[in-house]
Amino acid sequence: MPISSPEFSSGPRKSGPEVVFDIAVLGAGPAGLAAAGAAAAAGARVALIDAGRRIGGQYWRHLAEDDGRHHTGWPIFAGLRRRIDQQPERIENLAGHSVWQVETLLDNGFRVNTTTDDGQHSILARTVILAPGAYDRQLPFPGWTLPGVFTAGGTQALLKGHGVVAGSRIAVAGTGPFLLAVAAGLAGAGAEVVGVFEAGGAPTAFARHPIAVAQNLGKLGEGAHYARVLARHHIPYRTRTAVIAARGVSSVSGVTVAKLDRGWKVVEGSQREIDCDTLAVGYGFTPQLELAVQLGCATRLDVDGSLVAVVDGDQRSSAEGVWVAGEATGVGGAALSVTEGEIAGRNAAHAAVGVRPDLPVMRRLVRRRASQQRFAAALLQAYPIRPGWMTWSAQDTIVCRCEEVTLGTIDEAVVELGAADPRAVKLYARPGMGLCQGRVCGYATGCLVADRAGRTPNLADLQGVAGRPIAAPITLGQLAEAHHRNTF
Ligand SMILES: Cc1cc2nc3c(=O)[nH]c(=O)nc-3n(C[C@H](O)[C@H](O)[C@H](O)COP(=O)(O)OP(=O)(O)OC[C@H]3O[C@@H](n4cnc5c(N)ncnc54)[C@H](O)[C@@H]3O)c2cc1C
Repeated sequence: MPISSPEFSSGPRKSGPEVVFDIAVLGAGPAGLAAAGAAAAAGARVALIDAGRRIGGQYWRHLAEDDGRHHTGWPIFAGLRRRIDQQPERIENLAGHSVWQVETLLDNGFRVNTTTDDGQHSILARTVILAPGAYDRQLPFPGWTLPGVFTAGGTQALLKGHGVVAGSRIAVAGTGPFLLAVAAGLAGAGAEVVGVFEAGGAPTAFARHPIAVAQNLGKLGEGAHYARVLARHHIPYRTRTAVIAARGVSSVSGVTVAKLDRGWKVVEGSQREIDCDTLAVGYGFTPQLELAVQLGCATRLDVDGSLVAVVDGDQRSSAEGVWVAGEATGVGGAALSVTEGEIAGRNAAHAAVGVRPDLPVMRRLVRRRASQQRFAAALLQAYPIRPGWMTWSAQDTIVCRCEEVTLGTIDEAVVELGAADPRAVKLYARPGMGLCQGRVCGYATGCLVADRAGRTPNLADLQGVAGRPIAAPITLGQLAEAHHRNTF
């Protein structure tokens, strides 16, 4: 049914199978909140859709009665939330809605299909702003599938969203400044953090980007705060060091750490064992692109080797009527996500309801985005993933945990069966075919296949593991119901 149908043109309804909006904002994190607030302020009717029960996304994930005392940038969140709350007639906050698919309608607009606890819903919208954020980037190593091994973001989400500390004696490992935030949060909540093992070099690599640093001193202040917390709790911070194995029977009882050379190969003889009951590990973030890929948005490789959505200066994607903001366009932190959301919201509202954005405000936002993007790029360049991680695993190390595909099976698919790209390897060996559809192993599989085929990972390698026709789990019954409702 075309979305200009009179039946759907009288404003959003609170219930019913299909309601129509000018803009559907998918994701209520820093980017989505800014986008929804800005678009509504420009006169658009907005559906703000998120799988989570509370707005805030990953950065401002919080407990029900949280006063924000332990959250960085809470006043910014409070401001975004106020703007949402003050426009109830323009913004419908659809919490607890997981978007499993977005369809481009033939006439115009989109049908956003969601699942909730009480079934499947569809929302019609003239335009869409995608702000789905990112998820933890994982690299496999022996023992990484043991209970007690968490993603770094996972431990953070448990702590911020549920007040749960993942373990009592915790090692934090991976790369990037996020590890500092994780270690500081866990230590502050009472865990014993046995060390932060940073595979990259010292953060002084930033010095190569003095302008970006000077323009973003607040971020440095945040880093300094975490460093002080680590010092107060006497937590060792080791650079060029990685957890290369986790050991244990039914759960983690310890990890092997080792010094790394510049390419992340283990320095022989440097291995040592550390006892712990939990490992929080994260190698940065992977932008969440299933909805963008479903909608046909062009993608590119970012400076950190991640696949990201291509956007123009207005945050407009290559797909008609689709804007993208936040980490789906490149990992850069909450502040950059807010700026991008604000720009996307204003521009999408212009397209949807014709209200031209205020030029001086837009110029300020665009300048701010440029400076924040410079800082983000400097950060990503200071903490690159080096290919030596592929040498930490043995042939029996699991790469795809859903389908239990080992490194040896992937090697065999490339070397013996002649599969030259990740899609072919997926067909032969099944990595990425399980429940998570390659969200966890996709990046590693793309890199491994490229390496075995004798090249560095390219755009096609990452695109080959990014396509997922269903973006969130849905029951067969709900799927059948959706098909029936939309087809007959
Ligand atoms: C687990 C995790 C924890 C993190 N914790 C921190 C932290 O403590 N500090 C920090 O500096 N950075 C953290 N980050 C990095 C963080 O992603 C960003 O810097 C920032 O939150 C990005 O903002 P965003 O708006 O782009 O995305 P997000 O904040 O990730 O918001 C995206 C929102 O989209 C929703 N969403 C995604 N897909 C769907 C779908 N299909 N259907 C419905 N809703 C959907 C999600 O539920 C989420 O609320 C974390 C990242 C992750 C993955």
